[in-house]
Amino acid sequence: MANTSTAPNTSTTPSRSRTTSVLVSGAGIAGTALAYWLERYGFRVTVVERAPSLRGGGQAVDIRGNALGVVERMGLLEEVRARRTGLRGMSLVDADGRELGRTTEWTATGGPVGGPDVEILRDELAELVAGAAGPGIEYRFEDAIDTLVQYGDGVQVRFRSGTEQSFDLVVGADGLHSNTRRLVFGPEADYLHSVGTYVAGWSVPNHLGLDRWEVIHQPGGTTDRNCLAMTARDNTELRVFVSFRSDEPLDRMLPRDRTEQRRLIAERCAHLGWEVPRFLRGMWDTDAFHYDVVAQIRMERWSNDRVALLGDAGYCCSPLTGQGTSVALTAAYVLAGELHAADGDHRTAFPAYERRLRDHVAANQAILDLTADLYSGDGPGPAPAAPAGTTATPEGDAATTAPAGVPDFDRPGPELEEAFRAATVFDLPDY
Ligand SMILES: Cc1cc2nc3c(=O)[nH]c(=O)nc-3n(C[C@H](O)[C@H](O)[C@H](O)COP(=O)(O)OP(=O)(O)OC[C@H]3O[C@@H](n4cnc5c(N)ncnc54)[C@H](O)[C@@H]3O)c2cc1C
Repeated sequence: MANTSTAPNTSTTPSRSRTTSVLVSGAGIAGTALAYWLERYGFRVTVVERAPSLRGGGQAVDIRGNALGVVERMGLLEEVRARRTGLRGMSLVDADGRELGRTTEWTATGGPVGGPDVEILRDELAELVAGAAGPGIEYRFEDAIDTLVQYGDGVQVRFRSGTEQSFDLVVGADGLHSNTRRLVFGPEADYLHSVGTYVAGWSVPNHLGLDRWEVIHQPGGTTDRNCLAMTARDNTELRVFVSFRSDEPLDRMLPRDRTEQRRLIAERCAHLGWEVPRFLRGMWDTDAFHYDVVAQIRMERWSNDRVALLGDAGYCCSPLTGQGTSVALTAAYVLAGELHAADGDHRTAFPAYERRLRDHVAANQAILDLTADLYSGDGPGPAPAAPAGTTATPEGDAATTAPAGVPDFDRPGPELEEAFRAATVFDLPDY
């Protein structure tokens, strides 16, 4: 049910001979990628983003398997590869910063060092995707959908800025807490499945002088509370990532106010050692800050008449699968392609989009069943402290060391490897 407001009294019957207009809510990876493809196919595209610009911050995300094929079709593969984080390995440290073990074979965030997958900063990828798109896309920053009403021939949208406009179609690519989903499909609580873990990420200067390296501090070998820092942007920055568990109600753990969020993180991570107190002080100095619950969105349908959901808004896999970005890139390609193939007819395109992607999304969401155990606090340590990032395990362990008595860097077992393999294979249709 759409939010109610007066339906427009003028109705324009969309005909295949005119350009279909699409409003995309959210300029994350899913939204910018969809805009890229739709514009290329000749749709009229408006993107509304509530932030003042493309949002900075976040850790690295991974592009794997079929999603590399999408990036290649966008002509971005070389640039994306050139911007990969290029981490050489990682260490595990204790509260005093003493190294307990190290490996140059793989990293917790990016998987095997030198493997085919691309680990890239989320904000750099968003810039690349948005920059690759043609000039025809209209961006409305610092705005959002306030209400929308579907009527026979279109969707009447009122923006928070007060403007009203009618579009043929609306796509909600506005993330885990999608406003579009709430307006059209109902409350978030009906779809959001939390794993009880919270993650925050921000940037600080690389005062440790690390060189393309990742460091994990995980007291007691459990994942109840931990911190990961990795170098970024030519070793000038550290992207810091903390996670902690809580069984408290979601609304208490996710205050809307950014200052409250920072306060909560500082409190929950106060007992972490190593460099964490310094990182926490740096958290107050940066706008590139992200905090959220680790959760999945599970829905029986991703579209309702002229409104469809894309990416985290419709089927968030969670950072613990490491697959949200790859799924978003693939899904944007498929949704735009189906709309193009159907000449803008959503009645054909939206069901086809769902049919093509359901199994792929299910395979990606299933990874969480395996990685969430690592986060329950009972799993073997050290588990990935950030988005799980392993698709294959290199043979040999020569470059991995952990002193006796210290848990070794546990690599994914065959079950997890198989889950990753199944989730990163998807035959991209040609449109
Ligand atoms: C700042 C940030 C940092 C992140 N960091 C990580 C990370 O470190 N590791 C990881 O694995 N994943 C991270 N993610 C999630 C990851 O980017 C997604 O899982 C994946 O890329 C799919 O993205 P998406 O475009 O569907 O959703 P998102 O990346 O969440 O993008 C949604 C976009 O919609 C915008 N938006 C939200 N509400 C509205 C609204 N009402 N109106 C208009 N616009 C709205 C948001 O500002 C955002 O730009 C991060 C997401 C964000 C927003």
